[in-house]
Amino acid sequence: MELCDKSAMELATLLRKGYISSREITESVFKRIEEKEKTLNAYITTARDTALKQADQADERLRRGEKLPLIAGIPLAVKDILCTKGIRTTCGSKILGNFIPSYNATAVERALRDGAVIIGKTNMDEFGMGSSTENSIIGPAKNPIDTGLVAGGSSGGSAAAVASGEAVLALGTDTGGSIRQPSAFCGTAGLKPTYGRVSRYGVIAYASSLDQVGPVGRTVEDCAMLLNAIAGHDPLDSTSADIDKPDFLQAIKKDVKGLRAGLPKEYFIEGLDKGIKKKIDQAVRLLEKHGVEIVEISLPHTKYAVSVYYLIATAEASSNLARYDGVKYGFRSEADIDDVIMMYEATRSDGFGAEVKRRIMLGTYVLSAGYYDAYYLKAQKIRAMIKNDFDRAFKDVDFIITPTTPCLPFRLGEKLSDPLQMYLVDIYTVSLNLSGLPGMNVKCGDINGLPVGMQIIGKAFDEEMVLRVGNRIHRKDAKDAEV
Ligand code: GLN
Repeated sequence: MELCDKSAMELATLLRKGYISSREITESVFKRIEEKEKTLNAYITTARDTALKQADQADERLRRGEKLPLIAGIPLAVKDILCTKGIRTTCGSKILGNFIPSYNATAVERALRDGAVIIGKTNMDEFGMGSSTENSIIGPAKNPIDTGLVAGGSSGGSAAAVASGEAVLALGTDTGGSIRQPSAFCGTAGLKPTYGRVSRYGVIAYASSLDQVGPVGRTVEDCAMLLNAIAGHDPLDSTSADIDKPDFLQAIKKDVKGLRAGLPKEYFIEGLDKGIKKKIDQAVRLLEKHGVEIVEISLPHTKYAVSVYYLIATAEASSNLARYDGVKYGFRSEADIDDVIMMYEATRSDGFGAEVKRRIMLGTYVLSAGYYDAYYLKAQKIRAMIKNDFDRAFKDVDFIITPTTPCLPFRLGEKLSDPLQMYLVDIYTVSLNLSGLPGMNVKCGDINGLPVGMQIIGKAFDEEMVLRVGNRIHRKDAKDAEV
């Protein structure tokens, strides 16, 4: 086993014992990138020189005996939606051109402060819009398990990098499932924290009331380690919550005995792959065996979630993306035009991809005077009802279990010509963004070598519960194998 294949926790232990150095781990990651990146396409930009410098600094700090968080010296991939000082940030789009931010997103800044080593910027659907990373300016990221399959989206590069050893940890963002869904497809653990738990400062906005930054790792423990670094109040983000930050690594050590889990009946209906259902059932039985009480619950407004999500997300996106006009950032059309309005038009026509344009048009439409009440306002009302469903359910249970996706990873190109089919892949994930709740994907089995993802949903700001249950599913000891 190469160093790049070990978990962040194993590496942190070896580092502290002085058996290995961060430089060795980082070199191992770059060796893997050389071997696999041509096929995987997980990165838009790699930053070898700065990474090795950061690794040397981490080694030096550890050697001096500085008390550093566990993430120190560990290779981290960063989704290309987060601003990185001095490293090109494209958001998977042509329109940002060669934009080089002059500051770090808070999540990146905090990881660096704790000594993490930034390997590069991962591939993603343009502006986070997609479920397969096929809407990227550099072409799709491939699934490391089978490169004919999609890696999921929009943080597909982050999940593929972690699953393949091209990184040990990664940051993703999740507006409607973009951390959890690619994690399900690549077999990684991925957590969308509660809205407000992690600062959005320096995150290129897609839909501001839904976007959230979170960790991707090979284990639940690794996710907890990264969340420890990035979570917490940030005065630079007015929507960041000013509440206590627990030690998420401590939380996962707790037993699950005596907890109550809810299974929402609306999530186990037609359209869900039968094999996935079977694996979730097995995982539920495993939890039962560990002393969790299982009850059926109802989230009656689930059927509206995808429609409501695509109304609100596109409305916010149409407003957020108005800033790309060829003047303030990145790309400007080269067309020979001397009229400013035409310059905007040419820049936006040429700079945005097809899916982004589709969403800007949809979003502008639902916000327009004649349709605002019928679509946007109604969607906001139903959003509140979806949140109420969860509030009611959580009076009775400690956490909720669902599948993460209705299907296994699909073939590249399979759903590209049918946007509605693509949107339906988000059916189990979008409700959490609409309600602001934390949720995590953990692998709960395989079907013909392809990973099956299970989603664990917690109360607002109860990431500890989500991680604790996730860790129980993830750790498969000998006793569990009998289930
Ligand atoms: N697939 C969803 C979308 O296209 C979610 C994307 C995301 O979470 N960034 O909007």
